[in-house]
Amino acid sequence: MNDPTQSKYRHISFKSKTPYRRFIKAEDELKSSHLESQMVEIPAHGTYGALLFRPEWKAIREEILARDKSCIVCYSKSALQVHHRQYHFIVRENKFKLPWEYPKHLLITLCESCHRRGHSKFKVPTINI
Ligand SMILES: [Zn+2]
Ligand SMILES: [Zn+2]
Repeated sequence: MNDPTQSKYRHISFKSKTPYRRFIKAEDELKSSHLESQMVEIPAHGTYGALLFRPEWKAIREEILARDKSCIVCYSKSALQVHHRQYHFIVRENKFKLPWEYPKHLLITLCESCHRRGHSKFKVPTINI
């Protein structure tokens, strides 16, 4: 059986030459931001989507959208979504962080189409913490 605490994606290199490297790689300019937030698509968890309707997430999401102002890949300003560049699995508690518990530099604004394309191209790395 798969050990859910072991991510098989941890050793994958994401050094893509495409703009999608930004999909998962934290950029220096974002590290200086005082904003934080996140949104999550936790794998294999139907209830996860419900968390994205929580006010905690909505507040963080608004912060990230206000910080980035547009899709960071194509600069579109429509159909914006917030993407998590990493998922953090808390080994001791055997659960993922909640969407709004991530550092804000791991959250980025993408338009719907760049978001979908990014997810089809890359696996979001899961970090055991
Ligand atoms: Zn875009
Ligand atoms: Zn995403």
